[in-house]
Amino acid sequence: MGDRKFFVGGNWKMNGDKKSIDEIIKFLKEEPLDPAAEVVVAPPAPYIDYVSQKLSSKAAVAAQNCYKEASGAFTGEVSPGMIKDCGGTWVILGHSERRHVFGESNQLIGEKVKFALNAGLNLIPCVGEKLEEREAGNTEAVVFEQMKAIADNTSDWKRVVIAYEPVWAIGTGRTATPEQAQEVHKAIRNWLAKNVSESVAKSTRIIYGGSVKGSNAKELAGKADVDGFLVGGASLTRDFVAIILKQL
Ligand code: PEP
Repeated sequence: MGDRKFFVGGNWKMNGDKKSIDEIIKFLKEEPLDPAAEVVVAPPAPYIDYVSQKLSSKAAVAAQNCYKEASGAFTGEVSPGMIKDCGGTWVILGHSERRHVFGESNQLIGEKVKFALNAGLNLIPCVGEKLEEREAGNTEAVVFEQMKAIADNTSDWKRVVIAYEPVWAIGTGRTATPEQAQEVHKAIRNWLAKNVSESVAKSTRIIYGGSVKGSNAKELAGKADVDGFLVGGASLTRDFVAIILKQL
């Protein structure tokens, strides 16, 4: 891992209400989180303000998506400025559900990366292959094309954490093995070295997502190029703390 600070993001997806969110906030505040870990939670957009006020300094708050304009006739969309106004400092972009349920293209995700960075947010852009792409031997080709759309639009790598999330592992209970994760993380780091710079490759955190739990976090985090996690389902439970502490 070198000097890269361990990073854990919690993607709550479209789950929760104030009552259940209060419970998550309670355990996040009660438990001693690892000071060596950077922790970010991503509530649904209507709760960003609520969560950022309640959590204060315990964890940073992310949006799960945003649009590539500051304001205007874009019904249903949220701008980076609105996220910041509500206390959010991060945004997840290109999550597999955005790509595959809502049809977001690499081009659109690239445009969002550029706009959100320019607007001052920190970013968690996601990449990852589908099962049929992996089985056809196309994992690297797919992930590198996604990386190119992100990298072509990235002006400040210090504010970017890349999430590698194989689509077949998200919400399926089928976690990538530590070796599978390491293989792709290393390939992404090599891609960054070749296409951006050695120093960006060395310093950029590459986190893994896909059915991470307290019981598999330690082994995954033990791999040289796995710098943390993006956690979906388990981020709604106390298991999120076990993941941050890498113990169970
Ligand atoms: C995610 O939503 O980014 C994710 C990895 O989900 P899960 O942990 O539930 O697989």
